Amino acid sequence: MPERRWRALLTQRYRDFFDWPNGHRRADAVFPFIHGHGWGILLWRMLRVLRQLQQETGVQTTIRDVQEKWGSLCIHYTTTGESMAGHRLAEQIIANAEQLSDMTCELCGRPGHLSRVGWWRTLCPLCAAMDGRYRGASQRD
Ligand SMILES: [Zn+2]
Repeated sequence: MPERRWRALLTQRYRDFFDWPNGHRRADAVFPFIHGHGWGILLWRMLRVLRQLQQETGVQTTIRDVQEKWGSLCIHYTTTGESMAGHRLAEQIIANAEQLSDMTCELCGRPGHLSRVGWWRTLCPLCAAMDGRYRGASQRD
């Protein structure tokens, strides 16, 4: 799926789970995911489970910010609702997605690993090789 498309579809399908400054008012606004394409699938799975949790416990998760930080997925969110178990489960579901990002290539979604090549990134061997080549090229310019 093209990069722009999954971002738009994810925002559209889970619009009630996203809140961000000046973004949610426009019906066609796309949530600013600040990370690579490869982690999109982690977010799809995470939001599907969070919706199930919402339906079963009434606990609503609101995503404020999704970004890459030190090579891992970093999600800022809040939860509202009566069920304490529901709050704890939401926390675990999000922590699980963040942990999975440490073994998922941020660029393509294949199995990868967190390593430091100049800065921290989680990449598969192929993307790591490409990344090095591109950076090498830009340094020669
Ligand atoms: Zn990759």
